[in-house]
Amino acid sequence: MGSMTKYMANLEIIEWSNQKVKVSRRRRRPRLFVTVHHTGNVSVNVAQRTTSAEIVQFLEESRSWIQKKLIESAVRISQLKRFSLTDLTTLPWLGEELPVRIVPHKFARGQMQKCSSEGFTIHTSRFDEDSLRKLLRSYYKEAGSNYLSLRASTISEKTGLEPATLKFRDYKTRWGSCSSKGQVELNWRLVAAHPSVSDYVIVHELAHLKEMNHSRNFWNLVEQHCPNFRQSKQWLKDNQLFFDFLTENKEF
Ligand SMILES: [Zn+2]
Repeated sequence: MGSMTKYMANLEIIEWSNQKVKVSRRRRRPRLFVTVHHTGNVSVNVAQRTTSAEIVQFLEESRSWIQKKLIESAVRISQLKRFSLTDLTTLPWLGEELPVRIVPHKFARGQMQKCSSEGFTIHTSRFDEDSLRKLLRSYYKEAGSNYLSLRASTISEKTGLEPATLKFRDYKTRWGSCSSKGQVELNWRLVAAHPSVSDYVIVHELAHLKEMNHSRNFWNLVEQHCPNFRQSKQWLKDNQLFFDFLTENKEF
């Protein structure tokens, strides 16, 4: 996926209202816009020649909106910190929140199932955080890999972009990769997100089979097969914490 190093040289920080604001300058950026990420980071995208004074003025004009978003992200982060699998009630699957039922089971080593109309059922004799997390992760890994591999072959058929191999991995911050030998890897956690998001990542990695870079030709190819890719790309940027329930340990 996107490599950050390309833009690192342009990294610019503005101090505004006790807040570090990351400034990204792009040559063809038509207007200023500010993003408050779910992590509580604030960034602005501006054109190459926008001055610091103009940026600060823009931030001032957006002050109440930024503050509202910062409060929302602080609330979300504190909720995540308190999030516990033992009082789990719903889980995201293909972008939908499905109900979860935990059913005590005397003998079973533990098993998780999905029934399309009722959501998830977890049969288990062990209700501690670690055991539940293990069950959850192995379910998402297996069912997620199955779903994504079906989508990938459908998309390959449609686009003619066929990887040499397709593997599934658990990355914390990456969504996929494509090697020069045509080996594509996808993050199985993507199954939690809306299908348009995982489709975008699949198209993105398959497009690298033809364009091994992030050039304009590359993005044109992505857009050709995934016209609304910008929305999904932005969603992934803004929602890294969304996937935290699938981390191996409670790291956040
Ligand atoms: Zn890429």
